[in-house]
Amino acid sequence: MAKEDQGLAIGIDLGTTYSCAAVWREHHRRVDIIHNDQGHNTTPSFVAFTDHERLIGNAAKNQAATNPQNTIFDAKRLIGRKYSDPVVQKDMMLWPFKVVAGANDKPMITLNYKGKEKQFCAEEISSMVLVKMREIAESYLETRVKNAVVTVPAYFNDSQRKSTIDAGTIAGLNIIRIINEPTAAAIAYGLDRRNNCVGERNVFIFDLGGGTFDVSILTIKGKMFQVKGTAGNTHLGGEDIDNRMVNYFVEKIKKEKKLDISGNPRALRRLRSACERAKRTLSHAVSATIEVDGLSNDNDFFSSITRARFEEINMELFNQCMETVDRCLADAKMEKRSMHDVVLVGGSSRIPKVQELLQDFFEGKDLCKSINPDEAVAHGAAVQAALLSVGIKNVPDMVLLDVTPLSLGIHVMGDMMSVMIPRNTTIPVKRTQQYLTSVDNQSSVKIKVYEGERTRSRENNLLGSFKLSGFPRAPRNHPFDVCFAIDENGILSVSAKEETTGISNKMIITNDVDRLSAEEIYKMIQEAEEYKAEDKKFLRKAKTMNKIDDYAYNIKKALEKENFSSKVCSEDREKISSAITKATELLDGDQQDEEVDVFEDHLKELINLFERFVEKSD
Ligand code: ADP
Ligand code: MG
Repeated sequence: MAKEDQGLAIGIDLGTTYSCAAVWREHHRRVDIIHNDQGHNTTPSFVAFTDHERLIGNAAKNQAATNPQNTIFDAKRLIGRKYSDPVVQKDMMLWPFKVVAGANDKPMITLNYKGKEKQFCAEEISSMVLVKMREIAESYLETRVKNAVVTVPAYFNDSQRKSTIDAGTIAGLNIIRIINEPTAAAIAYGLDRRNNCVGERNVFIFDLGGGTFDVSILTIKGKMFQVKGTAGNTHLGGEDIDNRMVNYFVEKIKKEKKLDISGNPRALRRLRSACERAKRTLSHAVSATIEVDGLSNDNDFFSSITRARFEEINMELFNQCMETVDRCLADAKMEKRSMHDVVLVGGSSRIPKVQELLQDFFEGKDLCKSINPDEAVAHGAAVQAALLSVGIKNVPDMVLLDVTPLSLGIHVMGDMMSVMIPRNTTIPVKRTQQYLTSVDNQSSVKIKVYEGERTRSRENNLLGSFKLSGFPRAPRNHPFDVCFAIDENGILSVSAKEETTGISNKMIITNDVDRLSAEEIYKMIQEAEEYKAEDKKFLRKAKTMNKIDDYAYNIKKALEKENFSSKVCSEDREKISSAITKATELLDGDQQDEEVDVFEDHLKELINLFERFVEKSD
C-alpha cells in the first residue's frame, strides 16, 4: 500500500446500509458528491446473486423481496469479526441469508448463485460494493480511478480496519488511507480550521444512519483529531423507523380493509419501500402519501401520514438517541456546554424532530447541517484524499492526525498486559520498550500482542503472536527490546530484538487468524475479475435477448399481415417460422442458459430474415 500515490484519489464512505463517494475538484476548489446512474448520491450497500447474474447497489436492493436468501447487506457488521463473536451470533438471527463458520472461525456467507452453492467472506461482499462505488466514480469523472480514502467507524479495531483495507485490495483499489467517520465529518465542515477558539475545539458528532447510531466526541487541537469518547446503539437507525411505520400501516390495513398482510413478505417489502419514501418526504413536508398498487390480491393501498403521527410512532427511538448523547458526554466527563460544534451525520439525522431534540439538548446551539448529513463523511474523505494526491494545490492545507482507539501491548508474566501504546495516542507512532527474560538460560520468548483496556491480557483481544529464539545462555532478567509501530492507517507492526546476538523477528499483524492471507486475497482478486467478466457477459446476453424479442415480435406481426404470406414462398415461410420458434425457446424455454454466442448467432439470423422479408414488404 503506497502512502502517497500519483493520480486522482476519491473519498468513499462505505456505510452499513448506504455508501457514498466524493471527489475534490481542483478547478472549482470544492468537493463534488458523485451521483450514481440513477441520479442518487448514495447507493445501497447491497449485493445480490440470482440464477443468472450478480447485482450491486439499487438493482440488488430492489429485488431483495423476491430473493431474500441471496441478497446480502450489512456486510460491514461482519467485517473483521469471528463467527463465534456474540455480535455476529445476534445479528445472524435477523438476516434472511445464511452465515456459517469457515476456517479459523471466520464467518462465511453461504448463498446460491447460478444454481450452485457459493461462499463469500465479508471482505468480498464489501469489495463488490467498493467496485460499484469505483465504477460510479469512473463514469462520473470519465477517467480511471485507482486510489481512495475509505472511512470506518471510530470504534473499529485493528482487525476491522485491516479487513476494510483487504476489501479495497480485492476491489482493485489502492486504499491510501483509512480515516474515522466522525473525523471525516469534522473535516467536511472545516472545523479544524476554525481557529477562533483558543486551545482545543470540542466537537460532538451525531451520526444516525440506516442501521446504526454512533455518537463521538472529538477534540481538535492544531492538526490533531482526538476521539475523546464514543457511544452508540448498533441496532438503531432508519430501518427501525421504517419498521415502526410498516407496523403502523399493517394495523391500519387490518382495521380499515379487514386484510392481514403480516404473513405476506412481498406485500410487506412493498409497503416498506413506500414507507421509506414517505419518511424522506416527511423531512421536508408536513404530510406524505403512501401508495402501493396491488398490495395483496389486487388490493391497491392508498393512505397518508402526517409528520406529527410519524413523530409519535417513533418518539421512543428518538428518546433513546438522546439518552445515548447524554451517556457519551458523561462517559467522556465533558459538559454539554463545552461543545463548540454539534455536527449532524447520517441520513436519518435529517428528520426534523431529531434535530429539534438535539438542539434543545444543547440548549439552542446551532447545529452544523449545511452539508447533507448522508454525504458529510464522504465529503471529508474526499478532502483527505486530495491532500494525499500529488498535484493538488488548492485544497486547504491540513495534516490529519488520528489517534489509536484501543491500547496495545504484550502479554507479560502473571497474565498481565503490559501496555506499549495507550489508547488515544496520536498516530503514526513508534515506541520501543525493554523487557526481561523470566527464567535462567531461556532460549526463546513468545511475544503475544493484545489490544484492549483490561489489565489481564486474557480479557483483551489477542491480535497475534511470534517467537524470538536464539537467545544466548544467560541468567534470568536478560534484556530484549520490543518495538510497536502504528502507521497512518492505524495498522500495527511489532518487532523484537536481542542486542548481543542481533537476532530479531517481527510481525505485521497480517497473519492474524481473522485476516486474509496474501494468497487468499490474490485468489479473491482473480475471482472478482471473473465475476466482473460474468456480469459483462450477462449484460451482453440480456441486451441480445431483448433484441431477439423485438425482432421476433416484429417478424411475427408482419407474418400476420395478409399481403406478407403471398410474397414469401413456402420454403422461406418455413424458415421464418422455425426461427421464431427457436427465438421463443431461447427466451422462455430450457435454452435460456445457452452461451451468449448462441443468442448472438440467432439474433443475426433474425436480423437477416427481417431485412430480407419484412423491411422489403413494408
Ligand atoms: P449508513 O448507516 O449506511 O451510513 P446513511 O447515513 O446513508 O447510512 O443513512 C441511511 C438512512 O437514512 C436510511 O435509513 C434512509 O432511509 C435515511 N434517510 C435518507 N434520507 C432521509 C431523509 N431525507 N429523511 C429521513 N431519513 C432519511
Ligand atoms: Mg454512515
